[in-house]
Amino acid sequence: MGKLEDEIKRRRTFAIISHPDAGKTTLTEKFLLYGGAIAQAGAVKGKKNSRHAVSDWMEIEKQRGISVTSSVMQFQYKNYCINILDTPGHQDFSEDTYRTLMAADSAVMVIDASKGVENQTRKLFKVCVMRHIPIFTFVNKMDRESRNPFDLMEQIESELGIQTYPVNWPIGSGKEFKGVYDRDKKHIISFEASGGQHQVAATEVDLSDPSLDSLIGEDLHSTLCDDIELLDGASYEFDIEKVRKGELSPVFFGSALTNFGVEPFLENFLEMTTSPTPRNSSAGIIDPFDPEFSAFVFKIQANMNKAHRDRITFLRICSGKFDKDMEVLHVQGNKKLRLSQPQQIMAQEREIIDEAYAGDIIGVFDPGIFAIGDTICSPKKKFEFESIPTFAPEHFMRVRQKDTLKRKQFVKGTTQIAQEGAIQIFHEPDSGMEEVIVGVVGVLQLEVFEYRMKNEYNVDLFKEGLPYSYIRWIDNKDIDPKTLKLSSDTKLVKDFRDNYLLLFTSEWNIRWALERNEGLELSEFNRGD
Ligand code: GDP
Repeated sequence: MGKLEDEIKRRRTFAIISHPDAGKTTLTEKFLLYGGAIAQAGAVKGKKNSRHAVSDWMEIEKQRGISVTSSVMQFQYKNYCINILDTPGHQDFSEDTYRTLMAADSAVMVIDASKGVENQTRKLFKVCVMRHIPIFTFVNKMDRESRNPFDLMEQIESELGIQTYPVNWPIGSGKEFKGVYDRDKKHIISFEASGGQHQVAATEVDLSDPSLDSLIGEDLHSTLCDDIELLDGASYEFDIEKVRKGELSPVFFGSALTNFGVEPFLENFLEMTTSPTPRNSSAGIIDPFDPEFSAFVFKIQANMNKAHRDRITFLRICSGKFDKDMEVLHVQGNKKLRLSQPQQIMAQEREIIDEAYAGDIIGVFDPGIFAIGDTICSPKKKFEFESIPTFAPEHFMRVRQKDTLKRKQFVKGTTQIAQEGAIQIFHEPDSGMEEVIVGVVGVLQLEVFEYRMKNEYNVDLFKEGLPYSYIRWIDNKDIDPKTLKLSSDTKLVKDFRDNYLLLFTSEWNIRWALERNEGLELSEFNRGD
């Protein structure tokens, strides 16, 4: 029991989110550098020339320079065992971000100091706030001219509706960025440039130390004193309870590129954030220290390795310990099985693992039986973790294969991509499987879908954009949906479980349908089978 408890206590599992280009990849890489998982930054990837990173798998990501899928990495730092979940940096994939956040115990939000909270990312950050998990902010790129740090705090608070607590405060910015002031220890950490490839040299000096003027200059010293006075008077008090509930975000300043402030951030963050937290289930709260293994599926990724055509299901372990050969119960499938090829991503390598603990993320080979949200646990237990909500699609497209001989590949591709949760598919009541309506939350997902159909399933598509933007499931089981009175621009479709639903072009049409069809009950979510 002692070992299990120790192993779980030292785990930290968090997601990292940012607007594209704010520096998420660079920061992740520096964490790995400090953790000793890689010897030199830049060793993992030649980002500057090829724009791909450890965590970017898909070709489309390399081409577009955005993270489409989220991936996972584990590394050790001091006595901590850290699981980082990468999230797509584009709002069109906010559903993916939400699922990843379900697997995380806290989130790190990276913000570009010269840009602040960026337009495209607002939605992602709000998704983060929705989960009520601790959110830590790293204000990056302080080595460039930054916006006034007080304005940045103000913006985070007003835009995201979360209070801030600067744990440290920047001394200068751009070429003049000298270091940070640690508000708790009341000392300065001044950094020396090293080119960013290696860990940076830091000197700690007390605020009252007479050598400070020569270290950071008289002007910056006096600005810092003014800032501290203002901060201590105006900012929120530090309150770890509020941090835990996601109401107060500890803020740190630094530069991932030059390593300035990366280690102070990592250390404070690891100390303030939680070890694996309890999770809700149909059998009540599941304690991470419960020795019986349990986990849920939060992500399915097909064809990560083109040569193998494999499908990997990612599990977040919520309690106990996983052993490679153990028998587990797949609750939704009501089937006992052994998980095949359990693996973890360590820095750039995928490794087969023998054991893993609550807090860890493991990928297992999936023969096509798992779905997002499924529970897998020790056969001694039988419960389901809280389901992961799906977002209502807002964009729709009708698609079929150009080459009618490719029917099988078409059905396989659309079905698999839908199982992964990347798209939702619907059928018109009288159409066959060779024509589907694809629904997505963000338009970029349609592009990814089309790209993957061509590249992974070798299917070219005929597509037709559809004007709908609202979706409602029909709750009534006792009416024949085909007899409903609907306006000409409302469409009746079925989902993969044969539930009927309606696609509308406007809210006005929804009201129209409700008025003309007495007793009709519509809901925004699928209420089950
Ligand atoms: P991501 O899209 O959020 O993963 O951002 P990247 O880590 O790929 O960084 C985007 C660009 O910003 C790259 O050219 C990085 O070298 C650069 N960058 C990242 N961090 C910093 C920083 O602290 N300072 C400066 N000046 N550039 C940075």
